[in-house]
Amino acid sequence: MAINLEINSSGKKGVVLHTASAWNDEARLVEQWARVRARLQAEVGEVEYRTWLKQVSFAGVAGDEAVVMLPTRFLRDWVNKEYGELIAAFWQQENSTVRRVEFRTGAPAARPAAPDLAEPAPAAAFAAPAPQPRPENIAALDQRFTFETFVVGKPNEFAYACARRVAEAPATAGFNPLFLYGGVGLGKTHLMHAIAWELSNKRPNGRPVSVAYMSAERFMYRFINALRSQSTLEFKNELRSVDVLMIDDLQFLIGKDNTQEEFFHTFNALVDAGKQIVISADKSPSDLSGLEDRLRTRLGCGMVADLHATTFELRYSILEAKALRAGVEVPPKVLEFLARKITSNNRELEGALNRLVAHANLFNRQVTLDTAHEVLHDVLKAHDRKISIQEIQKRVCEHFSIRIAEMSSARRARNIARPRQVAMYLAKQLTSKSLPDIGRHFGDRDHTTVMHAVSRINELIGQDAAFAEDVELLKRLLEN
Ligand code: ADP
Ligand code: MG
Repeated sequence: MAINLEINSSGKKGVVLHTASAWNDEARLVEQWARVRARLQAEVGEVEYRTWLKQVSFAGVAGDEAVVMLPTRFLRDWVNKEYGELIAAFWQQENSTVRRVEFRTGAPAARPAAPDLAEPAPAAAFAAPAPQPRPENIAALDQRFTFETFVVGKPNEFAYACARRVAEAPATAGFNPLFLYGGVGLGKTHLMHAIAWELSNKRPNGRPVSVAYMSAERFMYRFINALRSQSTLEFKNELRSVDVLMIDDLQFLIGKDNTQEEFFHTFNALVDAGKQIVISADKSPSDLSGLEDRLRTRLGCGMVADLHATTFELRYSILEAKALRAGVEVPPKVLEFLARKITSNNRELEGALNRLVAHANLFNRQVTLDTAHEVLHDVLKAHDRKISIQEIQKRVCEHFSIRIAEMSSARRARNIARPRQVAMYLAKQLTSKSLPDIGRHFGDRDHTTVMHAVSRINELIGQDAAFAEDVELLKRLLEN
């Protein structure tokens, strides 16, 4: 498998790195590269990885040098400067013959047999009408981040509606700028990309809408670069020529006064020219302390939409949608389990599901509560805590829809007594409390009552699979 590199920056052309007989080596190297990438991703985090490293492709190893490619010079220099050492270190650990990493510009090498490394084609974030491609402006829009894949629920319906509106009719009065804010992993970037994708299909005046999407960091980096290379005028003109400018994670501009100033002017120029601006940040304009007042005022004068923390229902729907998309059957009990346990944000939720799905595919096993528990051990452990009897009672009551007071009541109707027994059983299983201790928490019942409950529940678990599953789910929810 010969790999020809078209190298357009280093002067060397058409370097053949491998010969046809070296296919095994090639496969091994590709595997090593996959591990290097995985480690990079784990090391720098999802956001940085996606912003900078996702577009790095592997070209091959020549001598003691691993060659990686980036689509633009800007990216090549940045990645080299910021991550060069890290990439080299990881390479070396994977393959001791590699001593250096060369960064080159160019398209990824054709690599037919490495599906796990297949990357979505980088989309031009500047879908600019200009005939010349402008490589500096290429930033990957994530192909998965569309309106179709965005699950709408109470916490995000308003932001979603606003995003839809902007995508339908950019620069409508009242929606400019659109300012999306909310905590990490709640869908801000997803919505921005969705707007960009939607607009990239549009030709309102017979010409494509030009959309520039970039993170505030990238904006800053490009601005500083322009200052250095004395090309600020070009930079300004370029930005001011777009129809829609989107800046993600604006909070990164705080404290960067020059960049803020530049952004302010760009912002004004675009709004005055009737262009749409979309901004995201982790806080509302009024809460972004450190931002210049005049910028804050302008940011808040369009539509400000909040992405709220997720709810159980939204998490469940997101999981359901993603499982469906992945074509893996995940039982509702497992979805419920994940949606209850992983409450921090949608990114973590998605990560957990992806791991489950990958595991199921890899081992050709069905997803069950057991596998979920096994595969997500470390994620779940992060939410570790001690369980109290009160918590057990609360969860059990929720599950069986009875009042918490029934845990201590004298009522012996089956629909009350059974949940009470389940709670006792779980208290025995999940806490280190003694039988008398447990009894005291259930309306001062005798320890023999607790013992009886434990053996009764054990019996039922053996007889009734659905009941066993219920108890198991409750246990998993309480555990970790
Ligand atoms: P943010 O930019 O707010 O930190 P992202 O937009 O990057 O968050 O979202 C994190 C992950 O969660 C992404 O993979 C995204 O697709 C997913 N996600 C977030 N919200 C939703 C949603 N409502 N529906 C589907 N996926 C979502
Ligand atoms: Mg984001």
